[in-house]
Amino acid sequence: MILFKKSQPLLQFLSEERAKGKKIGFVPTMGALHEGHISLLSAARQENELVVASIFVNPTQFNDPTDFQKYPITLEKDIDQLIIAGCDILFLPDVAEMYPDGTSQLPYYDLGAIETRWEGKYRPGHFQGVCVIVHRLLNIIQPHGLYMGQKDYQQCMVIQKLLQLSGLENDIQLHICPTLREENGLAMSSRNMRLSNGGKDKAGIIFQALMTIKTNLSAGNLSQLRANAQEKMEAAGFTVDYVAIAAANDLAEVHVWEGKQKLVAIVAAYLEDVRLIDNISINE
Ligand code: AMP
Repeated sequence: MILFKKSQPLLQFLSEERAKGKKIGFVPTMGALHEGHISLLSAARQENELVVASIFVNPTQFNDPTDFQKYPITLEKDIDQLIIAGCDILFLPDVAEMYPDGTSQLPYYDLGAIETRWEGKYRPGHFQGVCVIVHRLLNIIQPHGLYMGQKDYQQCMVIQKLLQLSGLENDIQLHICPTLREENGLAMSSRNMRLSNGGKDKAGIIFQALMTIKTNLSAGNLSQLRANAQEKMEAAGFTVDYVAIAAANDLAEVHVWEGKQKLVAIVAAYLEDVRLIDNISINE
């Protein structure tokens, strides 16, 4: 695996590889890697000649400074895992490399309604920060395929919109990969490292709540089904930002379901001061 810390040499290297006809797959991450990240690398490995991963804890997407300060960093372990997963290139820039002109004047992306729903509402500015960094990374790496996790469902929608807005949608294909889970259903996440063992056990309730929505889904008014899931989580000690049933295509909340529209159940909640998010499709 080749490690690049600067964008210019990486850009140069990749343009030569691209000129040789090599297909490039890209997996952006914030490090503290787990099997979920590795599954994205495996998907990229299968479909590309060159696999690039990035590790960059992007300051502009954190609306909560404590969350940023406490974000886990496990670089040596990450590098070992990337080598084992067959990653060809790791891009490991620092903040000055990605934000040479600072972070106070950044471009604005007109993402439409998706920006203000759910994560956008509870984490103001988050998706703008995500767009800034992903756009910059894409301009450097110019991959054929971009591999992201369904775990961050709304983020995938935002990135698809970013590709449209920046005229990249014909050049870069977004591959959305399934969520990897622990045995108890807890979606793997770097933030899980901040939970106690008891917390990790309890956090399985998030998946149970989502599955209860899926199992009991029927056409008609969904408010009781939604409220029951929230109650189940609150009774277990979670502080819930939202539990909702939403349209799979735009994440607008669905209160009354006619029985056909594709739906996702989405959740964001705190446990032990750690903010956890998850989602599942409930009527594939
Ligand atoms: P992060 O390092 O949290 O920014 O995540 C990097 C990428 O890994 C994003 O595309 C995430 O959606 C994806 N990812 C995070 N957790 C999982 C998971 N449990 N299963 C699959 N992909 C994941």
